[in-house]
Amino acid sequence: MKIQVLAPEVYNQIAAGEVIDRPYSVVKELVENAIDAGATQIAVEVEGGGKKLIRVTDNGGGIAKDDLANAYAAHATSKLRTAADLFGVTTLGFRGEALASVASVSKMNIVSRVQGEEAFSLACEGGVRGEILPAAGAGGTEVTVRELFFNTPARLKFLKSDQQEEGDVAGMMARFILSRPEIAFTFSANGKVKYRSFGDGLSAALAAVYGADILSHCYELNADKHGIRLHGYIGDRNYSKPNRTYQSLFVNGRYVVNQTVAAAFTNAYAAYLMKRQYPFYVVFLDVPPEIVDVNVHPNKADVRFADNQVIYGTVYSVVSSVLDGNSRALEYLVSTAPKQEQQPLEMALKPHTAPMPKQEARPSADTPPAMTFEEAKKELQFHIPVQTGKATVSPRGRDRAVFEVSAPTQKEIDVFEENKRALAEAEKKGQQRVDPASLAFKGELFRTYLIYECGDDAYIVDQHAAHERIIYDRLREKAEKREIVSQPMLVPFILTLNPAEFAFLVKQFPILAELGFEVEEFGSDAVKVSAVPADLMKMDLSAFFNEIMESYESLRAIKLADILKDKLASAACKAAVKGGETLTEEEVKSLLRRMNGDMGLKCPHGRPVAVHVGRGEFEKLFKRIV
Ligand code: ADP
Ligand code: MG
Repeated sequence: MKIQVLAPEVYNQIAAGEVIDRPYSVVKELVENAIDAGATQIAVEVEGGGKKLIRVTDNGGGIAKDDLANAYAAHATSKLRTAADLFGVTTLGFRGEALASVASVSKMNIVSRVQGEEAFSLACEGGVRGEILPAAGAGGTEVTVRELFFNTPARLKFLKSDQQEEGDVAGMMARFILSRPEIAFTFSANGKVKYRSFGDGLSAALAAVYGADILSHCYELNADKHGIRLHGYIGDRNYSKPNRTYQSLFVNGRYVVNQTVAAAFTNAYAAYLMKRQYPFYVVFLDVPPEIVDVNVHPNKADVRFADNQVIYGTVYSVVSSVLDGNSRALEYLVSTAPKQEQQPLEMALKPHTAPMPKQEARPSADTPPAMTFEEAKKELQFHIPVQTGKATVSPRGRDRAVFEVSAPTQKEIDVFEENKRALAEAEKKGQQRVDPASLAFKGELFRTYLIYECGDDAYIVDQHAAHERIIYDRLREKAEKREIVSQPMLVPFILTLNPAEFAFLVKQFPILAELGFEVEEFGSDAVKVSAVPADLMKMDLSAFFNEIMESYESLRAIKLADILKDKLASAACKAAVKGGETLTEEEVKSLLRRMNGDMGLKCPHGRPVAVHVGRGEFEKLFKRIV
């Protein structure tokens, strides 16, 4: 057979299969074009879940008459000239294939008007262009897509019900509203308005999508670390959602689903949320464009980072600081209340930084200038573990390591270690040590709180929190000193895995052994656990390993030991004595002995273990003093 160049209509239909498979992907492309055109108002209408009609109207720059035909041409784009431009992409579209693809499988019409010129329209049906005609239209562009897939029945068959398609379009629109809080969006379906935002900031955008109530369940973050900025809203410890659709991550303004960031969140929330509960977050991660590769997948839903560990470490440490309520969190939180009272501590923590600019969707004129790429790169280099030898450049340039950190003199800085040190220091400052011998046990309240007296001070200890914290510390300490006691199990636990999981877990055997697990291969697809850390005799092994395996994809690139230690901590909580159980006198004594008089402790969840009440407070209660 003779080799033939495909007719453009055919080529575009094939290409369309990759990018445009459902109404929501059409909406995505059209709205992205409107954003790229600088629109501040974008209206999206769908009928029949988008199968019958999709219309996107914007007030952006418009398409000039001479360019109208080109807009439909494959690989025609006004946003990219050379392959090298790919590495500095700042617009959402750049492949120049969306309009051509959609036009080849629908009946499309574009009406557009450039400021100061007349409006023109150009229709296209199944990839066959009509004529450019004068039209009436406001400044900007209106793209109408009717009867999507009318000429590709096979693809039409794969669409879901109108309702489901509409739901997916709505999900897409929610993301646009959140990612572009400065743009006013209207989304309507079958003539009814579903979402409406006014372009007045992120908190208003959150309210437009989730209802105003959401804000009372969230922390607002704005953290700058290692040249990476993380800002947005995260649900508090008690706020969880039944699935992951309430998680929005925007990397440099682009919505993505990214395993590394998702794992950082999951692990930061691990101690607070039960299984099958998911954290809520709408966050923006701004990184220097050179350390992120957006060209991973044709529909651009994921990105690749030059260094997963730095990204993981940054997100994990910021989110867990805020959730655990440690003093570092003040650096990351945006407070809506006047900050006056917090000032001293905050000042102590960041002596040389200017006040945090109020979080905004986009840097405004009076926010300090963002750091330059070079500055960011320098900072990052400092925090990236030294790699041996030069980074290799793959032929496609895609996997190129952006940082060729090969200077042997540069000291290795580990984000985890750094954070750990800071946490330990912050905790030390908050310590309130009391001589255990001077504490007199005075009884117990509600079978949960133990009361101690020491001179003019009373301490109320949450026995559950105390026990958790003791176990947690002991485990961590032993893990570090490698003196964990393993407790053999009567019946070994067998874990059957798929080949990839198996290979992954086998590699972790040394870490597991260090933590007190006795593990070995059991046949070619299973692992036998025959001993566990003595402190965790009661732990739910299958839940523990399930949790590890659930996130193993993303764990591969990061330090498992730290995550395992945290997982151990949450297992410790579950294994620890629960509030509501009465302790024997002996247990009470040993609890106190093990606390070693430290009344400033927090449980692994960040709750206080002990509360101090001075004699004066009692006297105030009884109006002995005022
Ligand atoms: P890409 O967005 O990747 O460049 P598209 O096929 O989506 O490719 O669009 C092709 C070109 O049409 C764009 O580069 C842009 O010049 C123009 N265009 C498309 N939609 C709009 C719009 N809403 N406003 C202004 N120009 C547009
Ligand atoms: Mg586009």
